[in-house]
Order: sequence, then structure tokens, then C-alpha cells
Amino acid sequence: AKNDASRKALQYQDTPKNGNNCAGCMQFVPGKDAKSPGGCKVIPGDNEISPNGWCAAWVKKA
Ligand code: SF4
Repeated sequence: AKNDASRKALQYQDTPKNGNNCAGCMQFVPGKDAKSPGGCKVIPGDNEISPNGWCAAWVKKA
């Protein structure tokens, strides 16, 4: 499922921005493997977040 409202509010896109992506973000909840879609701690109810996506809430993974 997708959380369209939160995606829009955070300007989510399915591609990286300035070399940053969800896989490198501390909010990302990884899926089955590195290429599978996962979740995001700030986009509740969404399990189709691309590891290669990006949004305005990106924060570098520690
Ligand atoms: Fe991706 Fe944004 Fe979630 Fe970070 S906060 S994992 S950049 S959707």
C-alpha cells in the first residue's frame, strides 16, 4: 500500500536526489533484500518505498 498524502507532503520521488536515497536514510525500513521496496518511519502504512527513492525528510543513516 502507498501513503499518498504523506508522500506528497514530503515530496517523495522514486529516484535519488543529489546522490541521496532511501537506502542511505536513517528513516528507511529495508524490505526483503537490498533491491526490494520497504517502509519508512515517517511515511506510515506505506510498504512500497523504493530503496532508490528520496524525500524531503531524508537524513543520513548513522
Ligand atoms: Fe526515503 Fe524520505 Fe523515508 Fe528517508 S524519510 S526513507 S528519504 S521516504
